[in-house]
Formats: sequence, structure tokens, C-alpha cells
Amino acid sequence: MDSYIRETPETLRNKCAACFRQFNKLEHLVEHMRTSYHSVHEPACGICRKHCRSFESLREHLIGPLPKQECRNIFSTRGCRFCLAIFDSPYALRIHQDRCQLSGLNGSGVLGRLSNLGIRDNLAMDYSGRSTRGGAGPQVVALACKMVGGGSDGSLDICARVCLIDEFENIIFHSYVKPPIPVTNYRYETTGIRPEYLRDAMPVRQVQKKIQDFLCNGEPMWKIRPRSGGKARILVGHGLDHDLDRLQLEYPSVMIRDTAKYPPLMKTSKLSNSLKYLTQAYLGYDIQSGIQDPYEDCVATMRLYMRMRSQNHRVEDYPLASDPQNRNNFASWRQTELERMTPEQMLEISRSDYYCWCLDSN
Ligand SMILES: [Zn+2]
Ligand SMILES: [Zn+2]
Ligand SMILES: [Zn+2]
Ligand SMILES: [Zn+2]
Repeated sequence: MDSYIRETPETLRNKCAACFRQFNKLEHLVEHMRTSYHSVHEPACGICRKHCRSFESLREHLIGPLPKQECRNIFSTRGCRFCLAIFDSPYALRIHQDRCQLSGLNGSGVLGRLSNLGIRDNLAMDYSGRSTRGGAGPQVVALACKMVGGGSDGSLDICARVCLIDEFENIIFHSYVKPPIPVTNYRYETTGIRPEYLRDAMPVRQVQKKIQDFLCNGEPMWKIRPRSGGKARILVGHGLDHDLDRLQLEYPSVMIRDTAKYPPLMKTSKLSNSLKYLTQAYLGYDIQSGIQDPYEDCVATMRLYMRMRSQNHRVEDYPLASDPQNRNNFASWRQTELERMTPEQMLEISRSDYYCWCLDSN
């Protein structure tokens, strides 16, 4: 916590302009700025403007268990508990929250109907130009799998079902997958999968090729680069390394947006949150109860991605600490020059060490 150092004029001058930590010595603040990569992309309190490393730490700051009292009091009357934004009045908050809390697809019958789908294959469909930005930015698709068990104890994950959706939550591909090795546990209570569903299903090799071709969209894998204006699609998912591995699918990491690895969505301990938790906390509805359809996971990850992409952050020419133009801004400045700067000036030259998804919309 920040309050263990007494606020003397000295420590106030050595106070980080982003996270408000105070240091006894200016050189310690400089050292802190070198290593913390504060930026405009960090989640920030709408009241005191404190930067947090993740939405989870912002949630702790606003709600608890150890909230900052002034911020907590305002947040409790006009703060949105899903996106953590602050509104001008309780009325404005109510209007907002109706839109911010999304409804699950459970109970609406959509999922019930989907579960009976054998295969839906629109991969060959013409998806060109179907983007929210009129085809200007890359298209975005979300992928999710459901696994059954293999190996002697049934603990080895084997992909048995896969779903791919577009940014409007339309199904592009939805299919059972014929496993390459024997299934020893169908995990029926959560997958709802029976042996006969997989017997004549599409072999994993074929699924892999279809999805890979769709993602690359005619662009050779080696040519795919970030923000190059190419045709390859952005792939959204939760824990995609595992899904892609089970599908034997390779895709360049620069095109992957993983809700399990995105720093603002991670726990304060830097571990991943479950998709079930993220959906409950940020979208306000329940998933993965009873028999699970990968479509439901696709929708949840796509909605989380869209929410993160729509964050309104200041546009900078070179937003990343790793951009060659900034290549560690702090290293290129001499210690004495940094020590002459105000905390605000140091924050001004500090850049993010992760790719903020708001950059996808620029
Ligand atoms: Zn700081
Ligand atoms: Zn951002
Ligand atoms: Zn605050
Ligand atoms: Zn909200």
C-alpha cells in the first residue's frame, strides 16, 4: 500500500505520477519508472486517476477488500461494476449499465438449438468486407474448443468440438472433430458428447487445414505482420495456446488476442483468470454451467475483446516501449536528466510493455 511512507514535502516530490507510490529518494522513483512501463493504456481510477496494472487491482481499489475510501464512496453511487467506469449521476449509470451488462445466450433457446447442430461450415463463404470498419482493419474471429479425455486415465485433452465465430457472433464453423487417438473419457457431464457424434466427424487434420486457411485468408504465413494492412484475420480466444496445440494449428502470435494472457484482464498475481470468471465479472452473466457449447465461449471471448478494443486511450505515434523509436526511453536519458524531470514528465515519456487492444481500432 502507498501510505506507509509519511507524506513529507520530500516524498510528495518523489511520488509516481501514475501509481502514486512514494519514494524517499528521487533516484528510487527514477528506478521505479524504468521498470514499471506506466502508460495511458493502463486501467485508471475514474476518480483519483491512479493507474493500476490490471482491472483486478482497479477493482480492489474501488470495491475492496482494501478500497480507497474516497473513491469507494463515489464509485458505490455512480460506478459501473462491470467496466469500472464512473458516471456523472446515478441516473446516467443506470442507463449505461443496462447496455454494459450483456445477457448470456443460455435460456434464450439459442444454445439449445445450437447443441443439436451437427456441422455448420461457412468457411468457404465470402467474408471479405465484413468488418465493423468497412474492411479497413483486419477482420476478427473467435475460436473455442471442447476437449474429451484420452490416455489411460483420461486426463489427456483431445479436441472433440470446435467453433469459430465472426465479430457479430455469427457462426462461421461449428463441428465435431474426429480424434486422432482413442477417447477414454467423453466427459459427458460437461461436453454432452457421445461416441456416435465423433465416429464420422471431420478428422482433425482437415479441421486444422480449413481453419488455418480461413485465418490466413490467402496471405502466406511468413508474410503476416502486425498492422501491415494484410488480409490475415485477428484470432481471439481464451487460452489459445492449448486450443491451437490440440488442433495442431500454427498461427503468428502477432495476430492472436488471448483473454487469458492480456495483462489488464489478469489477476494481480499475474495468473490468468478463468473465462467463466471474466464473463461473470466484466460482462455480468454466467457461462459453462452444465453441458458446454464452444459457441458460448467464442461469444464471451469476442465480447471481452470488443470491450477491451473499445477503450478510449490517448493516441500516440509510438505506443510501445519496444517500438524502436522509444527503445527503452529511460535508458537513452541519463540519470541526471531524469532526476531533473517532474514525475509527470517522466510519465509522459513512459510507454507500455504490452500491446493494448485499443490499438486494433486505430
Ligand atoms: Zn508507479
Ligand atoms: Zn489502450
Ligand atoms: Zn481512485
Ligand atoms: Zn459499464
